Amino acid sequence: MSDIVGIYNKIKKIFPNVQQNVPIAPFTAYKIGGNADLYYEVKNIDEIPKLIQFAESNYLSYFLLGGGCNTIFSDKGFRGLLIHNKADKIIVEGDRVTADSGAMLGLVIAEAKKNNLGGIIKLVALPGTIGGAVYGNAGAQGVEIGDFVEKVKLFDNKKGVIEEDNAYFQFSYRTSILKQNAQIVLRVTLKLPPLDPRNATAEVLQFRAQKQPKGKVAGSFFKNPSKDKAAGYLIDKAGLKGTSVGDMEVSQLHGNWLINKGNGTQEDLVKLARKLKEEVKKQFDTELNPENILIDEYGNRIDI
Ligand SMILES: Cc1cc2nc3c(=O)[nH]c(=O)nc-3n(C[C@H](O)[C@H](O)[C@H](O)COP(=O)(O)OP(=O)(O)OC[C@H]3O[C@@H](n4cnc5c(N)ncnc54)[C@H](O)[C@@H]3O)c2cc1C
Repeated sequence: MSDIVGIYNKIKKIFPNVQQNVPIAPFTAYKIGGNADLYYEVKNIDEIPKLIQFAESNYLSYFLLGGGCNTIFSDKGFRGLLIHNKADKIIVEGDRVTADSGAMLGLVIAEAKKNNLGGIIKLVALPGTIGGAVYGNAGAQGVEIGDFVEKVKLFDNKKGVIEEDNAYFQFSYRTSILKQNAQIVLRVTLKLPPLDPRNATAEVLQFRAQKQPKGKVAGSFFKNPSKDKAAGYLIDKAGLKGTSVGDMEVSQLHGNWLINKGNGTQEDLVKLARKLKEEVKKQFDTELNPENILIDEYGNRIDI
């Protein structure tokens, strides 16, 4: 998009709170990324289709960001409209919890718990939005969000606002159909079992706190190549814990977690990740593929 000033003036008439040249790094877990040409913070979920329609009809790239806990933007920023989803209404009715996709998963779980609903307690330590969680079928300790999704209101560029039920999403390990078809989650309804008093939130949080590195981190970088082969185990066995490129380093506590020690960049991270992938392939003939999502300046995926 070359005439960004012209576009800014146009979009500002419809969305007066749109901003120009906004740093992305503070919105992400690794604190990496340059400036977004245009930035809009969504408070009302109905704004998302309108923003996307505006972007499409003006040939403007756009990217929907949730909690930024799984996304790494380019050091050069993003040449388009960054839509930051902060729409977070949560409604509980009987055994169903319906949340706007920008609601933090932890808050959805807390709200469910207040209403004596459980099932997803083991996900309480997962940062990010429920929309981001559905997109990647986030999970921990044998529980995945997809196990509890009943139906989802989606925005589809061609069909408009539609509703789909669980089967549509083809949930499996850290993936859903959304990774293929660019549809946007607007609202999620979870159907939850009664709260099991043995599933204490504090225990889950304590367990995670002991096992997980702290600082500017974004969970597991690679997917586990199979159920019996953890990426962290392979990286550790390959002697790669502590390996670094610039300020990006493999955690000493967990081989699959990368830490931004200070001013790490996407470029450092890509180089480090490629090094880990190459070495694991060489030593174990096993292919590692990223769970974290790397985005270039124009919103395209970067392959590792
Ligand atoms: C400390 C830490 C620990 C973590 N531990 C785990 C873990 O145990 N298990 C696990 O699975 N993950 C874990 N993660 C990763 C992260 O929490 C999850 O991937 C989370 O679900 C990402 O949500 P988000 O809102 O931050 O997504 P973002 O990073 O904002 O977005 C991720 C992708 O989802 C897309 N997206 C976001 N919202 C929507 C929407 N409404 N509709 C369509 N697409 C959307 C984005 O466009 C992007 O492509 C961890 C992260 C951190 C920082």
